[in-house]
Amino acid sequence: MKAADGVYIELEDGTRLIDGMSSWWSAIHGYNHPVLNNAVQEQLSNMSHVMFGGLTHQPAVELCKKLVALTPDGLEKVFLCDSGSVSVEVALKMALQYWYAKGSPKSKFLTLRHGYHGDTFAAMSVTDPDNSMHKLYKGFLPEHMFAESPSSRFGESWNPSDLDSVIGLLEQHHRDIAAFILEPVVQGAGGMRLYHPEFVRQVRILCDRYDVLLIADEIATGFGRTGKLFACNHAGISPDILCVGKALTGGYMTLAATLATKHVADTVCSGEAGCFMHGPTFMGNPLACSVANASLGLIKQGDWKTDVTRIETKFAEMLPEFAKLDCVADVRFLGAIGVIETHEPVRMSEIQQAFVNEGVWVRPFGRLVYIMPPYIITDEQLTNLLMSTHKVLREHFSQQ
Ligand SMILES: *Cc1c(COP(=O)(O)O)cnc(C)c1O
Repeated sequence: MKAADGVYIELEDGTRLIDGMSSWWSAIHGYNHPVLNNAVQEQLSNMSHVMFGGLTHQPAVELCKKLVALTPDGLEKVFLCDSGSVSVEVALKMALQYWYAKGSPKSKFLTLRHGYHGDTFAAMSVTDPDNSMHKLYKGFLPEHMFAESPSSRFGESWNPSDLDSVIGLLEQHHRDIAAFILEPVVQGAGGMRLYHPEFVRQVRILCDRYDVLLIADEIATGFGRTGKLFACNHAGISPDILCVGKALTGGYMTLAATLATKHVADTVCSGEAGCFMHGPTFMGNPLACSVANASLGLIKQGDWKTDVTRIETKFAEMLPEFAKLDCVADVRFLGAIGVIETHEPVRMSEIQQAFVNEGVWVRPFGRLVYIMPPYIITDEQLTNLLMSTHKVLREHFSQQ
C-alpha cells in the first residue's frame, strides 16, 4: 500500500479502501491526522529518544498524569512499555513481585478460555491454549489455570452459574494464584465474545475475597471502543493492575502502559529488589509519548463518545440484515465493534480480494468477520462498508 488518510487506505495502484479495522483497534482517529502528525514533528525536532534510566522528560511525565486521570479510580502508578504483549509481561511480573515482597510467593495465574493476551511467552501462557497452539511450545510454556468463559451475553440476562468454574478454581488453588487476568467485557482475538459486565463485577469481589490480584487487559478495549472509556467502566470496577496499548498512540507507534494501584506499586518496591525489575532500552520513547498525549487530548475533547454512539446505532440498524443470511450464525455489537459470525470459516485469500474489489478493508479470521472502524468514519462511509461486507459474504458463501 501507498498511503492512508482519514478513513481511507490507499493501495499501490491508487485504489482507495474504506478501513474497517482501524489497523487492529489502534487508528481510532483515522490516518494522517493533522494533530497527531504535528505532535510527532514537534517532538522530532526537539528530541526523538533518550534513555529512561536516571533521566525523565516532559512527554512521559505528561502521559503518565493523563493516564492516571483517565483510567478507573485507584490506578495511580504507570509503567511505560514497548507493546501490548510487553505490558502483559510487565503486569504478570508485577503480580509475582508483589507476592514475593509480601513474603508469600505465588506463581500461578488464573484466566479465561477464549482469552487473548499477546504473543510473547508469558502472555501466550495465559492465552487460550487451543487458539495459541500451546502444544507447539509444551515443556517451555508455564501451565496456568483456565476457567470457563462466561456465557451470559452483553445486554442479556445474567446467569450466576457463569461463575461456577471461577469459584471452583479459586477455592481449590487461591493460595497459588498470584492474579486473575482477563479482558473485561470483550474477549477480542480469542473469539470476539461480548459478555455480561456482572461477570467482571463478581470477579472483582471474588479476587478480594480470595486474596488474588485482578489484572484487566484493556489493550483492545481501552479508549472508548466499547462505548465507555474503559470496559471496566461498564462494570464500575477498578482492577489492581491495568494494561493499555493499541489505541494509546492513535495507531501511530508502538507504545503501551501498565498501571497499578499505589498499594501494589508500593509493595513491589518495598521488596528485596527495591524496584520493579524491568527496563527496556526504548522505554518511554518521547516520540511515542508525544503522539499518545496528542491522541489522549483528542479523546478529552469528547467527540469519541458521539462518534462511537453513532457507529453503534448504525450497527443496530444494519447488522440484523446480516443475521438473515444463511451463512451467518450470529451477529453482535457493542460500541464501535461489530461482529458477524459465520457457520463455516471464510476462505481467506478469496474473501480478502473480494473485499478489496468492493473498496473496503476487512480482515476476518476463521468464522469471525468483524468491523471496528476509526471513530471518525461518517454514517455514509459506514453504510457503504456494511453494504459491501453484506454483498461479499452473500457471494462468498453462495460460491461453495
Ligand atoms: C493486541 C492485544 C495484545 C497484544 O498487544 P501487542 O501490541 O500486539 O503485543 C494483548 N492483549 C489484548 C487484549 C490484545 O488485543
